[in-house]
Amino acid sequence: MAKIGFIGLGTMGLPMSINLINGDHKVTGFDKNPDKLSAFQRAGGEVAKSSLECIEDAQFIITMLPQSSDVYEILINNKVTTNSFLPGTIFIDMTTSHPHTTDKLHKHLSKINIEMLDAPVGRTSTMAASGKLLIMVGGTKTTLIKAEPILNLMGSTIVHCGGAGMGSRMKIVNNYMTTVTNLVTAETLNLCKKSGLDIDLALKTMRQTTATNGHIDKSYPARALQNNYDPIFALELAYKDLQIGIDLAEQIGTPTVLGKEASKVYKTGIDKGLGKLDWTYMYELVKG
Ligand code: NAD
Repeated sequence: MAKIGFIGLGTMGLPMSINLINGDHKVTGFDKNPDKLSAFQRAGGEVAKSSLECIEDAQFIITMLPQSSDVYEILINNKVTTNSFLPGTIFIDMTTSHPHTTDKLHKHLSKINIEMLDAPVGRTSTMAASGKLLIMVGGTKTTLIKAEPILNLMGSTIVHCGGAGMGSRMKIVNNYMTTVTNLVTAETLNLCKKSGLDIDLALKTMRQTTATNGHIDKSYPARALQNNYDPIFALELAYKDLQIGIDLAEQIGTPTVLGKEASKVYKTGIDKGLGKLDWTYMYELVKG
């Protein structure tokens, strides 16, 4: 049984932490939203009063927060030092983070002799609940081997993407693709409807051609086409990931023509106060 500190018990973090509890680990959690803490406690977790309390006395610390700036705030702005951790603690950031922040965190923790993995996840909260996430890991193989029994309780596919920061980079590249294809899917399905085509027939047809994508296959049939925008993945989080992708591309010097156009449509939704809705709300935004 390991002692695990888990910070960020939201849509993804709560089911992930519950899988660790069910794997017979002692999990101490913190979230700034008291409702999330109550749900975590009901599932058998031990509630901490702060993120720092979560860090102390943990062999593994996991963060699953909205943005990398939230992780940065907890670790760096709080001036966490070697004394804040148990010797040998492994810090695992599972947030979809800006790779440059991930690099800074690795640097900071390595200076104080704490091992770190960046390990953002792919797939949905349903897969988080069934422990079948895809986990993209950056860090040394030695650290990954030590953390693998913990990661295996949350994910069914663990991909070692390379050294420090490569998990973050893999996730951002992946989400660049999927946040941009969200827009083209919304446009295509609106075009389909307004042309008088039967949506089910169109989906069935497109699933058999190169038009197939994860949105045609899964997310639109589950959400937008049911007129249900309860968030599986929030529009504002998708926008955040896309912005990181565009920023990374700009710094590397590679074009993001479609990404910038898609970003404007996401921003329209956020400006209308609809950022907490599911990201397939793009379908309605395109309708105009
Ligand atoms: P969420 O907003 O549902 O959960 C985040 C939780 O963190 C919230 O409960 C919030 O109260 C808490 N929080 C925020 N700041 C905090 C702080 N300083 N201290 C303690 N708690 C704090 O988000 P989510 O959907 O669970 O996503 C988490 C991360 O995983 C994001 O980076 C997201 O991009 C990524 N992700 C989400 C999905 C998805 O389908 N939802 C899939 C893959 C990756």
